[in-house]
Amino acid sequence: MRQQFIEILNSYNNLRTTPYQPTASDEAKLLTNVAPTTIRAALNLDKRKYKVQGSVGAGKWTDTPWISVFDKEITESAQQGFYIVYLFRKDMRGVYLSLNQGTTYVASKFKGLNPKKKMKQIAENIRQSLDIDRTIFPNESIDLKASTTNAKNYTAAHICGKYYDALALPDDEQLKVDLKNLLKIYEQLKIQMAGRGTEEMLDYYLQKEEIEDTQFQSDVQVAEPSNTPLVPQPVPPQVESNGKQQWKRNASIAKEALRNEDYLCEVNNGHLSFTSAITNKNFVEAHHLIPMKLQALFSWSLDVPGNIVSLCPNCHRKIHHASKSERKELIEVLYSKKINRLKSFGIDIQLKDLLKAYAC
Ligand SMILES: [Zn+2]
Ligand SMILES: [Zn+2]
Repeated sequence: MRQQFIEILNSYNNLRTTPYQPTASDEAKLLTNVAPTTIRAALNLDKRKYKVQGSVGAGKWTDTPWISVFDKEITESAQQGFYIVYLFRKDMRGVYLSLNQGTTYVASKFKGLNPKKKMKQIAENIRQSLDIDRTIFPNESIDLKASTTNAKNYTAAHICGKYYDALALPDDEQLKVDLKNLLKIYEQLKIQMAGRGTEEMLDYYLQKEEIEDTQFQSDVQVAEPSNTPLVPQPVPPQVESNGKQQWKRNASIAKEALRNEDYLCEVNNGHLSFTSAITNKNFVEAHHLIPMKLQALFSWSLDVPGNIVSLCPNCHRKIHHASKSERKELIEVLYSKKINRLKSFGIDIQLKDLLKAYAC
C-alpha cells in the first residue's frame, strides 16, 4: 500500500497535465485499479461484503483523487451513504484516511440553505455517537487544499480519520492497522443504522438534538422538583450514550427551575401558553442557558436552576430557531436576568462568550 501511495503522490500532478485518458494511463490505473486491488488483498476484504474503488474524476482529472472502501450493505457509491475513503490532497503533499458521507441527499435537500453546515452537523452528531479513539483518529477536520465543490463537500462531510504526510508515510503494517481500526468504527455505524436507509439516518442525525429535547421536556413535565442549595454544585457524572460520554440533564432540577419561576416565561411573564394536563400549571419548557455540552469548560455543574430558564414554547422555539439578531436579543435579556444567580452556583461567563456558544 505504502509504495503505491508514494507513486500516486509523486505522479498525479504530472498526470493532470496530460489529456484525460483514464484507461490508457498507468498512473491513472494505479488509482482506479492497482491500489484498490492491493488494499483489498492487504486486508483480505471479502468481495461479497466490500467494494473497493478508486477514482481520478469523471470526464476530467479531479483535483482530489480517491480510493474508497464501501460496505455493500450501506452503499456502493461515494454519492450517498457512509464509506471509508483515502482522499489525496490537491497539492499531493499527503493523503487523508477518512470516514465520510455521501452528500447528494443533504446538498439537494438544503440547496441554497448552507448544506455544508448541515453536513458538518451530521458529522458532529455521528462523531458523538461513535466510540472513536482520538489517539488513533485525531482529525476532526481535513483540508484538501482544493476549492472544488467536491473537495469542500468531503471536508464538510468528514466524520473522523487521520492524515498521512507524503514525507512520513507509515509502513504497510501501520496503514493496515489504521484501516482495520476505521473499519471497526464503520461497523459501529452500521449497527446504529440497524437496517435503516442512509437518508433516514441523515434525517435522524440532523434532528437528534430536537428528538432528545422533546423527550427531556416530557420528562420534566412528570418529574418531582428537587431542592438545590444555592451554592456551586459538583459537575454531574458523565453517562454513556451509544458509546459516547455525555453530561445528562436532570429533569428534577429543570422542574425546580420552572417551579421557581411559577411556571412563567422568563422573557416576559405575560407570555401565557395553556394549562398543562400534567402539572395543571401554565405550560413552560426548560432551557439550559449555557449549553450542557460546554460543561468541560466549567469547574461546577451547569445543570443547576441558575442556568435553567423557564420559557414559553414560543420563546423556546425562538432561542433555537430564530434569526441571529432575534436570538441575540433574547440571549442578552436572559443573560442579564440570570448572571447573578449563575455566579451563586459558581458559574461565570462573559456575554460575548455566551453569544459565541449560540453562534451569535
Ligand atoms: Zn432549549
Ligand atoms: Zn416567552
